Amino acid sequence: MKVAVLPGDGIGPEIVAVAAKVLARVAPSVELEFGDVGGAAFDKFGHPLPTTTLDLAKRADAVLFGAVGDWKYDALPRALRPEQALLGLRQALGLFANLRPAILYSELEAASSLRAEIVSGLDILIVRELTGDIYFGTPRGRRMAPDGPFAGAPEAFDTMRYSEPEIERIAHVAFRAAQKRRAKVTSVDKANVLESSQLWREVVSRIHAAYPDVTLEHMYVDNAAMQLVRAPKSFDVIVTGNLFGDILSDEAAMLTGSIGMLPSASLNAAGQGMFEPCHGSAPDLAGKDRANPLATILSAAMMLRYSLDDANAATRIESAVKEVLAQGLRTADIAHLGEVAVGTREMGDAVLRVLENEART
Ligand code: NAD
Repeated sequence: MKVAVLPGDGIGPEIVAVAAKVLARVAPSVELEFGDVGGAAFDKFGHPLPTTTLDLAKRADAVLFGAVGDWKYDALPRALRPEQALLGLRQALGLFANLRPAILYSELEAASSLRAEIVSGLDILIVRELTGDIYFGTPRGRRMAPDGPFAGAPEAFDTMRYSEPEIERIAHVAFRAAQKRRAKVTSVDKANVLESSQLWREVVSRIHAAYPDVTLEHMYVDNAAMQLVRAPKSFDVIVTGNLFGDILSDEAAMLTGSIGMLPSASLNAAGQGMFEPCHGSAPDLAGKDRANPLATILSAAMMLRYSLDDANAATRIESAVKEVLAQGLRTADIAHLGEVAVGTREMGDAVLRVLENEART
């Protein structure tokens, strides 16, 4: 098994270095090959996703990705901005399903933005469609508004679009995931207003017929945003489109205390995937040994489970993360008043120590 390791920008190299060590510890036979991506690749090769990196990702069984982006690239044309590397990898690898678990560890209940009784025990999974929707819809562009009260004024437009097969395959992913969890899917759309959402709702309902053991409910996105903070534990699996999923998954992230705790998996039809923390490159923390590496370590666990077929190693990593939290280790983002924060490397070393001790006993 080969893993392409793409650290990227900002805190990417620090958190990926730690996660790669953890991966090597639990799965020593997995071959890790490093590549450049994002702003780091632009600086070296003049492109955020050089052909060598793309080839490496295509040849690998899975990709471990750090984060890309920095304000210093803001003036570049859109096609050369670091974030384009992510879109390029998703498209080239056909990664259409983004799985984002939002789990609140009992040790971190106080770090959540909500009261403990509302979030305690939270364990939800957001399944976000990744290759369609307004981010990729055509036509898009700028023009002079042809009509309406602002006719003749400059305007910009993007088109939200979904095809039936795109909705079918993401619905299957959500229903299958729910079968392994609490057997409930909430499909989130805006079918009261949007034509593409009406199609979404029809197709998800049709696919549901093949999963009689799973309960399906439909919810408008505005209500879903509200319910996520009112009664988040009423959800099990949420399936939604690219734009709504982008927003709702960040909202869910905050329920768990810190975006520094949340892993994600992006999968294609063959089970090949890219695994990355939900957060960005946090340029404010770069090079300071202050970033929380746990989201990236937990992404490596998801990689073992979903792409490398080693659920046992995945569980070992997840248990080690729980153990270091139980021991009281906290990076600054999850530390509370009076708690001493440890750095990125020290948190990683603590996870490695737990794995080592466990191997000895
Ligand atoms: P961000 O996620 O990088 O940071 C948001 C906040 O969370 C910051 O205060 C940061 O310090 C904190 N944070 C993030 N990760 C953390 C961690 N592991 N430990 C502790 N704190 C952490 O989002 P942003 O500030 O909006 O964006 C910064 C850059 O990242 C931008 O260039 C953006 O385009 C890019 N970005 C990249 C990705 C990606 O690579 N997948 C995702 C989102 C944003």
